[in-house]
Amino acid sequence: NPVAMNDLISLVVDSMSLQLQKKDTELILALDADPDVVIGDELHLSNMIYNLVDNANKYSPENPKITIKTKTLANEICIEVSDEGIGMSKEQTKRIFDQFYRVPTGNLHDVKGFGLGLSYVNDIIKQMNGSVKVISEKDKGTTFVIHLPLN
Ligand code: ATP
Ligand code: MG
Repeated sequence: NPVAMNDLISLVVDSMSLQLQKKDTELILALDADPDVVIGDELHLSNMIYNLVDNANKYSPENPKITIKTKTLANEICIEVSDEGIGMSKEQTKRIFDQFYRVPTGNLHDVKGFGLGLSYVNDIIKQMNGSVKVISEKDKGTTFVIHLPLN
């Protein structure tokens, strides 16, 4: 189903409100993409957003601050999910899209996961002929920048 990205993001973060409240997460939305622009595969795109927000929340200490931005470019939509969490080294960011890869979380204990979320995210983006880039700095935070072509 084609869906407007901004609406989809709002729905997904609403569905996560309990999970986000638990950690007292501050969510900042700057959804500036053209609301008329729709893109395919509602289910996979919802799961993509869920995985990125779940990670931003999990890999941050208490009171995480998560920012989600969208904008429409010439023939694509750009989505950015950023956090101010534990971040990663360059070496680590190279492997996070591999299945089952997980970075030791150091003093942030008990963060559960299988290491599958991002490999799924990467598959979805590839299937849609999009791209994903990670910008991360240890102890500073992480940003995922996604570009998806519009048809
Ligand atoms: P799953 O998503 O399957 O429940 P997971 O979160 O461990 O488990 P991925 O979402 O694939 O797996 O992420 C892989 C690894 O990348 C994580 O274990 C974590 O070490 C690192 N990572 C992902 N997102 C972030 C982030 N926003 N900040 C810091 N590290 C991250
Ligand atoms: Mg994950």
